[in-house]
Amino acid sequence: MKSIILWSPNTVNAAESKKIRLVMSLRKAGIQDTAVLSAIERVPREHFIPQAMQDQAYEDIAVPIGLGQTISQPFVVAKMTEALELNDRHKALEIGTGTGYQACVLSKIVRRVYTIERHKPLHSHAEENFKQLGLRNITTLCGDGMRGWPKIHGIEQAPFDRIIVTAAAREKPPAKLIEQLKVGGIMVAPVGESGKQMLKRYKKESEDTYSISDIMPVRFVPLLPDIARDDTREEMVVA
Ligand code: SAH
Repeated sequence: MKSIILWSPNTVNAAESKKIRLVMSLRKAGIQDTAVLSAIERVPREHFIPQAMQDQAYEDIAVPIGLGQTISQPFVVAKMTEALELNDRHKALEIGTGTGYQACVLSKIVRRVYTIERHKPLHSHAEENFKQLGLRNITTLCGDGMRGWPKIHGIEQAPFDRIIVTAAAREKPPAKLIEQLKVGGIMVAPVGESGKQMLKRYKKESEDTYSISDIMPVRFVPLLPDIARDDTREEMVVA
């Protein structure tokens, strides 16, 4: 039987060359970790972008994904991923799955990714994305990431080698997250109120001490408690 191929080489090449241009611009902007650049090159960002915004998939900009949330700008994703100093033995936790793009980038570098999202529709959509892309080293949870990764069926996943928070805490990241970080581990998280946020890097030096350094000013949606109610409009006020 003859099969019909609904695929245009021109479209594919256009997306590929846009992607290469994006990776080159990230390198020019100071991203040096080749594992990070290669991961970004291997993730189809268009897959995580709403239909109406497809032409912006490889622009270096944040894109709205519904429910008042956004998929981060590729430069910010690259910078956060680089700051985590990842390797293929790491077990990483992400708070704020959103579309799943950042988790997908992480999954290309580390052994296993755990990711939590408080909005049910975003969580289901991200799960669907991971399934379609055949990513088997990502475990998702719909819940409140401020409480860290819970014991599920008596199984503890904490502590994590790395933690990335992709929504901004007002004053400091939740204590539970630092608690779930391994000694020697790194956490990257935006902190501060809207308009005054700083991306910070936390290094857990011992069971009860950690060092903090500033990476760069950023704009993230707020980190909010509990699972979102379906009718919630709380995030819509975010700039
Ligand atoms: N990393 C995402 C973008 C994150 S946008 C991506 O690559 O697409 C920030 C996300 O954090 C939003 O989806 C928001 O719903 C979620 N969020 C905010 N507070 C949270 C919490 N306490 N627990 C889990 N997710 C949270």
